[in-house]
Amino acid sequence: MGNLLEVRNLSVSFFTYESTVQAVRDISFDLAPGETTALVGESGCGKSVTSKSIMGLIKKPGKILEGSRIYFKGQCITDFTIKEWERFRGKNCSIIFQDALASLNPTMKIGRQIIEVLNNHDTGLSRDEKVKKAVEMLAMTGIADAAGCLEKYPHELSGGMRQRVMIAMALIGRPELLIADEPTTSLDVTVQAQILEQMKQLQQKLNMAILLVTHDLGIVADAANKIIIMYAGRIVEQGPAREIFYHPVHPYTKALLDSVPRIDRDRTKRLRAIEGNIPDMANPPKGCAFCGRCPEAMNICEEHAPVLRQIEGPHAAACWLNELHTIHGGTDA
Ligand code: SF4
Repeated sequence: MGNLLEVRNLSVSFFTYESTVQAVRDISFDLAPGETTALVGESGCGKSVTSKSIMGLIKKPGKILEGSRIYFKGQCITDFTIKEWERFRGKNCSIIFQDALASLNPTMKIGRQIIEVLNNHDTGLSRDEKVKKAVEMLAMTGIADAAGCLEKYPHELSGGMRQRVMIAMALIGRPELLIADEPTTSLDVTVQAQILEQMKQLQQKLNMAILLVTHDLGIVADAANKIIIMYAGRIVEQGPAREIFYHPVHPYTKALLDSVPRIDRDRTKRLRAIEGNIPDMANPPKGCAFCGRCPEAMNICEEHAPVLRQIEGPHAAACWLNELHTIHGGTDA
């Protein structure tokens, strides 16, 4: 089966009077139909800029740089016109953000907001059919009184309910790809787990792919088939979720894993925060961007940036340790 989405050499910069911020730097990855891929990294690593690029939502002073290409089912979408983007969003691909309250119109009842989404999709349905569809979709997201929910304003719903409404609105056009950008960050842990489980069930029912964008490696363990780790605008490691969790290679991935609780680890061991800050992306380091924070940094790391290289199968990492490991035939360098 072919890929649903192919991102090739994507670079995105933000141009201001003072500086040019290189938010995303030459990244490439694929998404398979029906699978969940997690895009993971700290705030400012370029993951949200990547997801907005896929949705055609990069606005000035941001710019997708020449040579960047994004293909959806083989069709290049980076050159879409405004009309083509409008058709693409919601129908082929939808996005939900962390802050459902900010995304919903506070002055409009939920029912009207969902019906407006259907109006944009030009479904040819009557008003009664649209109401029926809205109720069905809300019920699918786990809202018990779906019909009653249509009559509510956003402020009358809990944070979890509002996020379910956002999911219903995103999925009502039956997109093949859902981008969930920090979908559960503002919710408490129990509601987080419920929403992620609901998304998983909806994914199976609707056979869609999910790009789960998050800073929290902990929440993707159960949810993702594949994990992409981003740091300072670049992909530093990617591979099947099992490989990333049990055989991480990049020191940044290892540090992220050490910072989240795991049931397969000694519970008396303290979780470790990652010391230091991400580099200034207006002036990124010429060598490895993680060098200033890396406990395993070597001289070469400061001078030369490592490239993403295959470790085994689809597992790849961008780290000089990986290169040395390959040169020395699997022995420690
Ligand atoms: Fe650390 Fe060097 Fe690997 Fe960068 S390339 S992560 S500095 S060992």
